[in-house]
Amino acid sequence: MAPLTPDQIRTRLIDLQADDLPVHGGRTLAYVYDAGLAEVDALAREAVAAFAGSNGLDPTAFPSLLAMENDLVGFARPLVDGPDTMVGTLTSGGTESCLLAVQGARDSRPDVASPSIVVPDTVHAAFHKAGHYFGVRVVVVPTGPDHRADAAAMAAAIDETTVLVVASAPSYADGVVDPVPEIAAAAADAGVRCHVDACIGGWVLPYAARLGRTVTPWTFAVPGVTSISTDLHKYAYAPKGASLLLHRDPSLRRAQYFAHAGWPGYTMLNATLQSTRSGGPTAGAWATVRAIGDAGYLSLTERALEATDAIATGIAAVDGLALVAVPDSTLVAAVADGPLDVFTVCDEMAARGWFVQPQLSYGDRPPSLHVAISAATDPTDFLAALGAAVAAARAAGPVPVDPGVAELLRTLDPATLGDAEFDLLLAAGGLADGGELGLPERMAPVNALLDVAPPALREAVLVAFLDRLARPAGWSAAPIAEGR
Ligand SMILES: *Cc1c(COP(=O)(O)O)cnc(C)c1O
Repeated sequence: MAPLTPDQIRTRLIDLQADDLPVHGGRTLAYVYDAGLAEVDALAREAVAAFAGSNGLDPTAFPSLLAMENDLVGFARPLVDGPDTMVGTLTSGGTESCLLAVQGARDSRPDVASPSIVVPDTVHAAFHKAGHYFGVRVVVVPTGPDHRADAAAMAAAIDETTVLVVASAPSYADGVVDPVPEIAAAAADAGVRCHVDACIGGWVLPYAARLGRTVTPWTFAVPGVTSISTDLHKYAYAPKGASLLLHRDPSLRRAQYFAHAGWPGYTMLNATLQSTRSGGPTAGAWATVRAIGDAGYLSLTERALEATDAIATGIAAVDGLALVAVPDSTLVAAVADGPLDVFTVCDEMAARGWFVQPQLSYGDRPPSLHVAISAATDPTDFLAALGAAVAAARAAGPVPVDPGVAELLRTLDPATLGDAEFDLLLAAGGLADGGELGLPERMAPVNALLDVAPPALREAVLVAFLDRLARPAGWSAAPIAEGR
């Protein structure tokens, strides 16, 4: 392939980005978080670019990155009521912070042969990923009708194999804070670590409390909390690739380090899953946090919380929709409380320029729609669009799923399916049009089908879909043995 000219590259990048969701404007209500501060964003992008080639692998070679990391941990300390002994690690994101919390807990207990963690059923999927990666059993405890972790049931689930107990502040799906004091106390009584997953609330709840709102205690001020994850690339409004994993003291962090001197190369010394680590996200997060500052976050949080209140009140007033819970932070989830298809509402919102995230049914919970509200989100515009979207969804009626297909999906065992069957399922689901893979214009029919499938089949079908999407041009199922 001939090299492209700089102008061709720029044009092509702009063309490619045209199909992406917008990262500014406050209308993409998942994946991106928008402060609405154009100058800060520009500054952060400059910082990312300036440090994109720097390597956090060796902090003695790039002391700038260590200085910025220590600065970020220092900024976070008062937010999480960190004691003087608190330390932290900058990671690539919430999932890496959660993975490391589990890895560190596991490796701090070499005496436990078959380690497990105790989590509420609303815990982020990152903890299931950690269990899968690190061979740690995940003991899932059902939440109560208020969607908060059941502290007594979690206490009862702790046994001699438990190396970590997890609570969320707040949970992603429902946006409510778990009873951290009771959970942390039970963990401490058993001599077990307690991690608070504040990936999405860590930069919101401290300011909410300062704004006079009632916030369930969730920080290091709660006895028994040993570590906290808080994402910079969510409500600290930093560019992607930055989260903090904070530990009450250095002894709790120790098992997280990996060192290897037993090879002929450099002694590898890592605090994170990554070894070579771009300085871009570090500098981008540092620039954002220092440019916005404490007073800036207080007013951004006030704006986001007021928008959340307005949106929650507005949703509760929509005929056909009900809140899953009164939000404790900036996340709102809603279910249908009448004949309304929430997946169609998501499609109708998309048609009006708003990305609202669908959440499939889980156990006896119906499907829901989910929004993460940023400082830049205008609640009046949102509610106007939602009113119109609900009216259009009602007019469109429910998305029918053929009962025979539904029965098939309920009973199919994904373990028995091969490539050919997945090809058929993807075509039947509307994810392959005449052999061409891609997303259809409307996602509601796809979501309706996925929703009747059990979780294991959903996972298998979506993995098959992603596997087929992620193939280079010219890929072929039938390699030609000769002549290549
Ligand atoms: C977003 C989130 C995560 C995972 O973070 P990523 O940055 O997407 O890897 C974990 N826990 C909670 C509560 C979250 O909201």
